[in-house]
Amino acid sequence: MAKILIQIIPFLVGTAFFSFCDLVVYRLPRGEKILLGRSRCEHCGKVLPPQDLVPVMGWLTRRGHCRFCGGSIPVHCLAMEVTGGLLSLLMAWKYGGGWALEEGGLGLSWRAWWALLVAGILVMVARMDGKTNLIPDPLNGALLAAGIWSGLLFPSPGWTARLLGTVCVSLPMYLLCRVIPDAFGGGDIKLMAAAGLMLGWQRNLLAFFLALLGGGAVAAVLLLTARIKPRDHLAFGPYLCAGIGVSMLFGDKILAWYLG
Ligand SMILES: [Zn+2]
Repeated sequence: MAKILIQIIPFLVGTAFFSFCDLVVYRLPRGEKILLGRSRCEHCGKVLPPQDLVPVMGWLTRRGHCRFCGGSIPVHCLAMEVTGGLLSLLMAWKYGGGWALEEGGLGLSWRAWWALLVAGILVMVARMDGKTNLIPDPLNGALLAAGIWSGLLFPSPGWTARLLGTVCVSLPMYLLCRVIPDAFGGGDIKLMAAAGLMLGWQRNLLAFFLALLGGGAVAAVLLLTARIKPRDHLAFGPYLCAGIGVSMLFGDKILAWYLG
């Protein structure tokens, strides 16, 4: 029982952080201030009381409806919060968690905090790009900062490999855009530069390869089922984010297996 209780705190940390990420995805494209201003019902505009904003519980107790007008609160709010909680537990398992740690806090090591932060940034980038076809600079800047932090937390890869990582994917993408305009979005290029500092050049190449594989497979299915036309634009950001996430978590193992 105590073991389960100990897991609740990191889970709640994840739900609260991803609830904030959901807010950013909603407010950033609208040009609204992120940190100021209380959360309002998007139907009636009334300010929601604090108890309705408690992650997961707020949604469940109101059964997904505004207490004033009864308008529905999208289920993706709940899905985001639960995802954040589960990812927090995953990061604690992968990067260290528990209460006997000398470094970190709230049941998460600093490395686990870092990984949860990166996961939140990637989910925000993926959702924003999927929705607006744009990756806002502040999010790429946040990933760059997370890359610098990872250099302080993890001795490997070294700074040379990390600096190579900033250009090994982004520079070819940029050059390709000079030949084929709009081959990639500017936000995609900046994203891969920031990811390179975090992953180092080897895992960044892997991230890009996985994104091409995933994006290519989905595009092929959508084309074959006539859901998109050959000239339609498909946001690449979500696939890049998935590739970066997988490469961050399992890149070393995949590369070791691949390189024998
Ligand atoms: Zn309402």
